[in-house]
Amino acid sequence: MPDYFADLHIHSCLSPCGDNDMTPADICGMAKLKGLDVIAVTDHNAAYNLPYVQRAADFYGLLLIPGLEITTKEEVHLLGYFPSVEAAVQFSDELKPHMPRQKNKPSLFGEQLVMDEEGQIQYELDTLLIGASDLSLAAVTRLIRERGGVPVPAHINRGSNGLLVNLGFMPEDLHFTAVEVWPHLPCPHTPQAGKVVLHSSDAHYLGDISEPLYQIPLKELSVSAFLDYISQKA
Ligand SMILES: [Zn+2]
Ligand SMILES: [Zn+2]
Repeated sequence: MPDYFADLHIHSCLSPCGDNDMTPADICGMAKLKGLDVIAVTDHNAAYNLPYVQRAADFYGLLLIPGLEITTKEEVHLLGYFPSVEAAVQFSDELKPHMPRQKNKPSLFGEQLVMDEEGQIQYELDTLLIGASDLSLAAVTRLIRERGGVPVPAHINRGSNGLLVNLGFMPEDLHFTAVEVWPHLPCPHTPQAGKVVLHSSDAHYLGDISEPLYQIPLKELSVSAFLDYISQKA
């Protein structure tokens, strides 16, 4: 199977902590410049820039994996990768009532911009996206799967919001088939055993988008081949 260079965890200007330069077009332009084949844009608890990222990715000839990074009730970060932009946006709509009704303070947390592929601001999201949802890890995992997505615990070995650090163990009853390991810290081997291990940048700034370092084997360059890979069907 051919290997492709990927960065599967990138934040856009919709995430309050994402730099405003993380526009759909500039994320894709930078990823192309760096020599990547596949990217996933995974904003905190919302997917509303994905339709625009899709257009920019098509322009640059990149494969976009539609995703989100959801904060569970336990404050664990869980990536959800979806079969289509529509499925990710629909999931995002379903998540909305489960998020705290706290207004964003842009001067404190950063702006939450929905921006089109030409860099025009469409609107600014009012509700703060970085709070924790009221859904448990098990509930979010189930919801992602119901929408045809694949849940992947994010940066499991990192202190802030990593599953191993927050929970202290790998919940094997949730049957995760893939995990993201933060490449800059050691990770105990046992929790990863038998799972696909992904490394990504978690970039919030253009310059942090991954160099061509991490390869994934896919039978073809498509979202469904990626979902098959991480769910160990390929
Ligand atoms: Zn995270
Ligand atoms: Zn992240």
